[in-house]
Amino acid sequence: MTVVFLSLGSNLGDKVAYLNQAIQSLSQVHETQLVKVSSFYRTAAWGKIDQDDFVNAVVQLETNLEAIDFLRECQQIEKDLDRVRHEHWGPRTIDIDILLYGEETFNTPDLKVPHPFMTERAFVLVPLAELTEDLVLPNTGKTVLEALAQLSHEDVTKI
Ligand code: ATP
Ligand code: CA
Ligand code: CA
Repeated sequence: MTVVFLSLGSNLGDKVAYLNQAIQSLSQVHETQLVKVSSFYRTAAWGKIDQDDFVNAVVQLETNLEAIDFLRECQQIEKDLDRVRHEHWGPRTIDIDILLYGEETFNTPDLKVPHPFMTERAFVLVPLAELTEDLVLPNTGKTVLEALAQLSHEDVTKI
């Protein structure tokens, strides 16, 4: 089994409900078990500031699926939850990003793991630290807590 961490985010519609539905769907992916779910956090939008706040969470799973197949499952869940995309980094009902896939690394347009921006995003590292603060991030050699210490995260508040 491979230990997987996902980042979930929503900034459109009933955000908490979308996150809960995505988690429910993830728990039903074949050859996969849900291990832990972080608290939900409210965060000011990243990248573009002229839009609604996000609700974010991190989920830990174990799976026997290959990473690319697991990505397809995540994309199907996004599609099923009526994800609406108008612009890059624009509003969406649900966004599911693969943060870490065991020790594996990928660097194709379809799949970059570890997620290239994870150590720059407090809305990722705060919930990830709640699940596994001592995990060493393969891209930096830092623990989640050490990476988080380098970011300001006052605007990431637990719901
Ligand atoms: P960001 O990746 O900066 O958070 P985003 O989540 O808004 O941006 P999307 O439009 O959701 O970007 O992603 C589009 C593409 O990203 C998808 O086609 C997917 O194949 C690719 N992708 C690359 N690496 C990953 C990853 N680790 N997890 C999820 N999708 C990924
Ligand atoms: Ca994303
Ligand atoms: Ca995404």
